[in-house]
Amino acid sequence: MSSDRIKIVWIYPDLLSTYGDQGNTIVLERRAALRGIQTETINVRSDQAVPQDGDIYLLGGGEDRPQILAAHRLRRDGGLPAAARRGAVVFGVCAGYQLLGHEFGGEEGQPVQGLGLLDIHSNRGEQRAVGEIVGDVSSELQVPRITGFENHQGVTHLGQTVKPFAQVVAGIGNGNGFEGAYSGRVLGTYMHGPALVRNPGLADLLLRWAAGRDLRPIDDSWAGRLREERLNAVVPAT
Ligand code: GLN
Repeated sequence: MSSDRIKIVWIYPDLLSTYGDQGNTIVLERRAALRGIQTETINVRSDQAVPQDGDIYLLGGGEDRPQILAAHRLRRDGGLPAAARRGAVVFGVCAGYQLLGHEFGGEEGQPVQGLGLLDIHSNRGEQRAVGEIVGDVSSELQVPRITGFENHQGVTHLGQTVKPFAQVVAGIGNGNGFEGAYSGRVLGTYMHGPALVRNPGLADLLLRWAAGRDLRPIDDSWAGRLREERLNAVVPAT
């Protein structure tokens, strides 16, 4: 499938949108436009139905209670799972990542059912993971070293049918040396930043999946300077 018009669906800005995660939509729109690809972005509040005909679905981070509410509503709505079954791209950050899994830990540690779109489950760890995170991405995804900011209590365990998104170089990520997970076109990460602002290569991966074709390179010198500054601050060049 090849598409020159991409529909981006931002899920639940009223519940899942910490640390500027909504900036991920702006980066996708801009990088698509620079390749002559039109986009349409729809913000779906938690009292609205999730359309099933989107190409890229984005979910951000959230506090524990909004995260639980979002999981309940998305399960009841069914639009996101239906779109994922159809092959839509789904990108979840932190709370949005955890709720793509089978289960995550609520504010008292109680298990809360997720959407089961990723074969992962999360529970609450002993310590909050807060700070910068750097990782080297699974080579098949062809995304350069990733940089982001994490702030979560959750620890995430990967099942048989997902692969880790990246190997942690600095920070905590899932809690076992890896960060994030993906399966097909569903990808989750603990990285805020917003992640796609700090990692244009990751934005392009999502756009490639949605467009069904390779994209021509664009001038990333400004994004490159931001990346260089952050990467050097966390993992100084030797
Ligand atoms: N509430 C979740 C946790 O603490 C997610 C936090 C977030 O999205 N930043 O693990």
